[in-house]
Amino acid sequence: MPDNRSPDLGRPEVVVVGLGIWGAMTLWRLAARGVRAVGVEQFDIAHARGSSHGGARMFRETCLENEALVPTARRSLELWRELERATGTRLVEDTGGLLIGPRDGRQAGATLASAQAHGVEVEVLVPGELMRRFPGHAGIPDGHVGVWEPSAGVLRAEESVRAAIAQAEHHGATVVSGTRVLGVEPEPGGVRVRTALRDLVADQVVLTPGCWLPGFAPDLGLRSVHLPMTWFAPRGDPALFSRERFPVFMREIDADTVLWGQGDGDPRHVKLGLEPGPEPAPYDPVNGDLALTSAVWDRLGEVLPTAVPGVERFPSKVLNCGITTTADGQFVLGAAPEDPRIVLAGGCNGYGFKHAAGIGDLLADVVLGAADRTPLPFAAPGRLVAAEATAAQF
Ligand SMILES: Cc1cc2nc3c(=O)[nH]c(=O)nc-3n(C[C@H](O)[C@H](O)[C@H](O)COP(=O)(O)OP(=O)(O)OC[C@H]3O[C@@H](n4cnc5c(N)ncnc54)[C@H](O)[C@@H]3O)c2cc1C
Repeated sequence: MPDNRSPDLGRPEVVVVGLGIWGAMTLWRLAARGVRAVGVEQFDIAHARGSSHGGARMFRETCLENEALVPTARRSLELWRELERATGTRLVEDTGGLLIGPRDGRQAGATLASAQAHGVEVEVLVPGELMRRFPGHAGIPDGHVGVWEPSAGVLRAEESVRAAIAQAEHHGATVVSGTRVLGVEPEPGGVRVRTALRDLVADQVVLTPGCWLPGFAPDLGLRSVHLPMTWFAPRGDPALFSRERFPVFMREIDADTVLWGQGDGDPRHVKLGLEPGPEPAPYDPVNGDLALTSAVWDRLGEVLPTAVPGVERFPSKVLNCGITTTADGQFVLGAAPEDPRIVLAGGCNGYGFKHAAGIGDLLADVVLGAADRTPLPFAAPGRLVAAEATAAQF
């Protein structure tokens, strides 16, 4: 009888460590381009202890966090469509999306600027028109606008992870789940990946461990923080909160607060969150205390009666989730400062899902030598080592 716990993995060219959305997409793009790749995941595929679960994530072409990511977002969408065709699974919901706030503010204003710079089609809605078209929203003050981005939408989270893994396997990748990587050690002839099961030696290793990246790269000053997700039940007609009538949005409530959310697809719940949430606690989904308190939704409960009065004030569902932050809010992507055969990819800062397929493709380019070892200079891991060293002097 075959021993499923000990498949013959041979000598892989690449090991991908961590199969959330970034690792799953990377494994798919590597395998699709003929690379002999093994992916190792400590839990099950599409589990709920990292960052890539909870049903849905916003996709949009305009990139407020860094203009230079617009091509990555566009490439991502192309690949997401390819994955849909290959697996026969619906992964993208073309609902359109709304960015609401002052015309010159950090949501609507920045979206207009990004759309203009990159030729993204948008439509500007004044408050009355916006609330008529999307009646789940209320209390939008004069002077605010809604920027309607028809190409925005929702990515199905767990389905996307599963689809990328299925396609990676289809192209010959090996997936080892339920197996924790204990260490990654460069050697003269390759990079040793120590797992609880056995050691693997590969030519290169791509590290996509999400909130666990700080443990692999302690010098980068990364922080994994707890960012729970909350859903609220509609009080009246749930049809007001379908994905089409209450499409994915980010809404500036005041200079410091952004409300975000979307219809859930399940008529019992509407997904809503605030940025910033309560003072973020460290996220350690293996050993940490993840008990949730009302601090997570107290401020939301104050905002909702004015902004989205058609939902209850207390959540109908809550799920733990986490993100990894960097000092400058930009990703970590590229060769590790100590050894170029190890490629680091993380520091998602809460906006990494939509870029995952484009980033997986870029990482495949890096591995194959078709792109620079630090393909996006603003995301080079070395910048954070330098910043940490400077900070340590004071
Ligand atoms: C509440 C919330 C809302 C968000 N909204 C959006 C949004 O609307 N749009 C958007 O684009 N992004 C959004 N994001 C961010 C997005 O979800 C993340 O950027 C993305 O999921 C990061 O994926 P990842 O693969 O890097 O991490 P993960 O999904 O955490 O994957 C890392 C994987 O590595 C595995 N792993 C770790 N260590 C080991 C080890 N030692 N051995 C083996 N396996 C290991 C983990 O188990 C995990 O499966 C949101 C995030 C949160 C929390």
